[in-house]
Amino acid sequence: MKADHFEQQKLLALADEDVALTQLAHRRRTLPEVAAVEAAAEAERAFAEAEVRAETEVRDLDREQKRLEADVDAVRQRAARDQARIDSGGATAKEITSLQSELQSLSRRQSDLEDQVLELMERRETADAALVAAQTGRSSALADRERAEQLRDDALADVTDSTSRHEAARAEVAGGVSAPLLALYDRIRTQTGTTGAAMLKARQCQGCRIELNGRELAAVRNADPHEVVRCENCNRILVRTAESGL
Ligand SMILES: [Zn+2]
Repeated sequence: MKADHFEQQKLLALADEDVALTQLAHRRRTLPEVAAVEAAAEAERAFAEAEVRAETEVRDLDREQKRLEADVDAVRQRAARDQARIDSGGATAKEITSLQSELQSLSRRQSDLEDQVLELMERRETADAALVAAQTGRSSALADRERAEQLRDDALADVTDSTSRHEAARAEVAGGVSAPLLALYDRIRTQTGTTGAAMLKARQCQGCRIELNGRELAAVRNADPHEVVRCENCNRILVRTAESGL
């Protein structure tokens, strides 16, 4: 294929834009800001789970406390009834002995229940503190996540802006390249994954960084300036300049 030597030079500008676009696509895929959002969301989830656990614990302890209070009530009522029976003067001596024995046992039971209530209150304090810590942690983690999302959105917007600018610049350069040469460039670009042309600089292909051997160099040197020459190693269009070392 032949193409104007000057037009071939434009492929270098095209390749520069393609390198920039490839780097931008890579940057978009690997933004640390995206990973930061995931980490912040994970921390938030952990606090939310801790909050649910603490709420469940508080609810369980509340239920336990109601049960204990009902037990204490029942014991008190029973003791009051027993005492009233003794005080009524209508009970026999045998009955009074039995009632007094029961009152002692009720007193022990009440003391035992009161110990349990105290223990429960301590556990409730711990659970309340855990709930507050989880709620505080979650609200701070939420703020962290929102901040991280803002940073990610800013970074993505930055990448999108740069991409648009390079796409516009590429389109402008491509507009100055004839259709067949552009089609060849694009076909090679698809194969290499980055660029379709490279400068021959100091006898080295700048696309694959391989130095041309004597035979290859002679072939390029002897080729018409308007002939489109290719790198035998990477297949790219080799663009000759004053720096080519020919
Ligand atoms: Zn090459």
